[in-house]
Amino acid sequence: MTVEFQVQGVRVSELARRYGTPLFVYDGTALRDRFHGLRDRLHPAMEIFYSLKANPNISICALLHSFGARAEVSSLVELTTALRAGVPPQQVIFLGPGKSRQELAACLDTGIYAVVCESIPEVALVDELARERGVKAPVALRVNPRFAVKRSGLAMGGRPRQFGIDEEELFGQNDLVKRFPDVDLMGVQVYMGTRILHEAVIVENTTRILELAERLSDALNLELRMVDVGGGLGVSYFDGESDLDAQVLTDGLNPVIEDFTARHPGTRLIMELGRYLTAEAGTYVMGVRYTKTSMGERFAVADGGTHHHMAAVGIGSFVKRNFPMAVLNRLDEPATEEWNVTGPLCTPGDTIGKKVPLPPVRPGDLIGVHRSGAYGPTASPGLFLSHGYPAEVLVHEGRSHLVRERDRPDDLLKRQRLYDPTAQDNTTHER
Ligand SMILES: *Cc1c(COP(=O)(O)O)cnc(C)c1O
Repeated sequence: MTVEFQVQGVRVSELARRYGTPLFVYDGTALRDRFHGLRDRLHPAMEIFYSLKANPNISICALLHSFGARAEVSSLVELTTALRAGVPPQQVIFLGPGKSRQELAACLDTGIYAVVCESIPEVALVDELARERGVKAPVALRVNPRFAVKRSGLAMGGRPRQFGIDEEELFGQNDLVKRFPDVDLMGVQVYMGTRILHEAVIVENTTRILELAERLSDALNLELRMVDVGGGLGVSYFDGESDLDAQVLTDGLNPVIEDFTARHPGTRLIMELGRYLTAEAGTYVMGVRYTKTSMGERFAVADGGTHHHMAAVGIGSFVKRNFPMAVLNRLDEPATEEWNVTGPLCTPGDTIGKKVPLPPVRPGDLIGVHRSGAYGPTASPGLFLSHGYPAEVLVHEGRSHLVRERDRPDDLLKRQRLYDPTAQDNTTHER
């Protein structure tokens, strides 16, 4: 008998038959275990906010919220998603370097916990919007610190960046509280970088961020009601990487948090996590359409590709590294061959896996890319060659639920307008 990949007892072939491929499958139990694996060990004063950027599916957000996650959003649609998923406004923060007037207004009108401002002009705009509404706007300042994070996949702070306000600049602004009377300056946020796989680096970052927040609060005379220490917790994808150990991490973090809360008992502490919460729970399932050889190499041409999973091309490196992959419908067969796994796009870049050890692949097989629950379709060129968005399925409590329909041709065509070169009176300047 062949061994098949299953999610909570639901067979992958059944999911493929029912929903078609390509398909993202999310395991609700894996999401829960991931969240609780950290939550149950982490100091209770540290709240976990889910960064919707990693996977903005509304059902994923709702499920994580049901486990206890709050929400960190960066666009109007993410904000709406979090609220519709049932996250109360006081558990939502809004971040991002280029927020629109409309987004800032929505922050104030929905009554979210904090707008994290990334420049002084942004604070001024929020001040103006608050005055128009006769409210006081809760604002935290995103700081770009002087120190940089070591061994992060992608540094977001500690160097010239469009994010946040430079530490040096902020320390010179001790009239901020007075200058913006309709802004309630209530906290500090720092986000150092993503894909950190060393517990000690996260502990050190957190320590330095909390210390910076205290210094800023003294210098600017602002009340420290909230400190958001960012996060950047990674997951391993490639050979030679290993996952963070939640126990080791919290053994290091908890005393730092305890020490801070002893001095600031009322301060709300926030950690923002995207990838760490969702990556492991997702599998990208592709159906193999054709197999062939080219100049001695084997190719499995699948119905899915980099238009849904750009990260599989190899994040943060110039060398192609493969995500963990398998032939899902024959898990028990030994990987005796090497296969290039490619998609339907007309570019050699559409290579999901290069020389992946797999068993002999046949058309109709289901190839899965594991750990694909974060930065999948929304971080990929989904419109390239007009294939559009894949279906997404959540399996929870032993049952599968379609949580995103795949795009159909009409979905992709409906926003285009046909200009007719032969018509006499094509209206111009129409918006
Ligand atoms: C992208 C981002 C996150 C989430 O990052 P992960 O590495 O997915 O956890 C959190 N906060 C900010 C400010 C971000 O830009």
